Amino acid sequence: MSRPSTGPDPTAIDTSRRPFVLVWEVTQACGLACDHCRADATPARHPDELTTEEGKRLLDEARDFGPGQLVVLSGGDPLARPDLTELVEYGTEQGLRMTLTPSGTSSLTPETVQSLGEAGIRRLALSIDGGSPAAHDSFRGEDGSFDQTVQAARAAREAGVPLQINTTVCAQTADELPAIRDLVADLDAVLWSVFFLVPVGRGRILDPVTPERAERILSWLTEVSEEASFGVKTTEAPHYRRVAIQRRRNSTDAPDADGIGRRLGIIAGNGFAFVSHTGDIYPSGFLPKSAGSVRESSLVERYRESDLFQSLRDPDQFSGKCGVCEFRHVCGGSRSRAYAHTGDPLASDPLCDYVPAEYDGPMPAGRASDD
Ligand code: SF4
Repeated sequence: MSRPSTGPDPTAIDTSRRPFVLVWEVTQACGLACDHCRADATPARHPDELTTEEGKRLLDEARDFGPGQLVVLSGGDPLARPDLTELVEYGTEQGLRMTLTPSGTSSLTPETVQSLGEAGIRRLALSIDGGSPAAHDSFRGEDGSFDQTVQAARAAREAGVPLQINTTVCAQTADELPAIRDLVADLDAVLWSVFFLVPVGRGRILDPVTPERAERILSWLTEVSEEASFGVKTTEAPHYRRVAIQRRRNSTDAPDADGIGRRLGIIAGNGFAFVSHTGDIYPSGFLPKSAGSVRESSLVERYRESDLFQSLRDPDQFSGKCGVCEFRHVCGGSRSRAYAHTGDPLASDPLCDYVPAEYDGPMPAGRASDD
């Protein structure tokens, strides 16, 4: 299966026209029962999931965003769909860059990884939430998940499929981060995606880190990114960009390793879109406010024209401290976390510790207070 050689330059993407990342939650079925599951995953597939034909129409539409559109097939566990390889092949044939976030279960065998690689998968993203089998398996609720994930990671490298490691940051996992960083390097991953917990789905039962601790972790991540062999990105913590810019301003040594200060942030609805297992169009999987359904409307039109998506791309509409912050155009705060705590996706992100100099209003609702 031929793969498009390169994607569009992320710094050149006009995020008012197309998402940098389009996630399709192909199913909510999953054999794991992770503590933090956004999808509230269940063992069985939903009877109203998008069908294979509907999925192919969705991939046709994704192609209309522009050449080399990045599509992430997520879940649940995408491997719960028997047509997964067919969908990967179809998307690849349309010129899409197809990537996958499978769960660390026994179905993720080296043979499966090999066949997904042959189908054209561009990247495999695996979750590791602890630096040891005990820590990871306890978080994931399944003995053996760590070993299966590491085995799949090695299989990805052997199949020539670039590897991404996803990690959830919350009070229960924060101490594991240095050990996970070492593992990411050992597994020869190309990217570490560090997700800061948003309290949706089963994630509501976990404790977020405090804004102070988040600040320390983000600062540490900028150091990791400067030294590591892999890239570092955050999910639902766009103030990583603000921290990196402040660090660079304070140091003549800190390199602009990935152009983080030149690029606008990617947040829910602004460079990011999500289609649920039943076809709802959300700004993010962590911001389950629908702008319509792919069964009834055009994904491209909804992304570009819906009031919801347009408002999320206009930081001047944000309220509270995010609305006056001088970093709002490069950061903007997690719209998903604001929505989870207030029901208003334009409110301020309670995880951010920064207070703009001219701001004297209330702190955002939902700030965690204990480590
Ligand atoms: S106040 Fe809001 S926009 Fe400013 S850095 Fe914090 S999260 Fe970002």
